[in-house]
Amino acid sequence: MRADNKKALHRKVNATARGVPHHHGNDYKNSRRKVSAIGMRKGVQRGLDYTPLFRFLLSKVGGNWSDIHSEAVSRLDKQDPIFFIVSMDYDSAEEVVRVGESSYFSGLYIDDAGVLRVVNPELDENFLEPQCKCCTHTFNGVVFTRRLD
Ligand SMILES: [Zn+2]
Repeated sequence: MRADNKKALHRKVNATARGVPHHHGNDYKNSRRKVSAIGMRKGVQRGLDYTPLFRFLLSKVGGNWSDIHSEAVSRLDKQDPIFFIVSMDYDSAEEVVRVGESSYFSGLYIDDAGVLRVVNPELDENFLEPQCKCCTHTFNGVVFTRRLD
């Protein structure tokens, strides 16, 4: 069920507009050390873009998790994508979560008081280094400021 006045938090990806997906095997190998230092979570389903959901969750940081969760669930087809970037406790949370070839978001967690928090609030689009020159890398929807040399 979805309230009429609420927009869905996911949108269909136009696969043809995205072209042929490419893999960054060499780029990844070259930057493995940096990547593993940050921590990545895999297994994000292709075909739907959950950027609106992740932006929604980021906009709710500092709020009561049960309220945020209820609203998110009411605006999603399924709730799994919420937990791509939200962890139920700090210890299992990642600082940065990659949700596509080149889209990164802040890892979030629920604190002991049931409040949604950012794992590392100091990270921003100036922190991460892109893994290739061919893609536009974003952090929380903002293009990285650093460039590959
Ligand atoms: Zn690329």
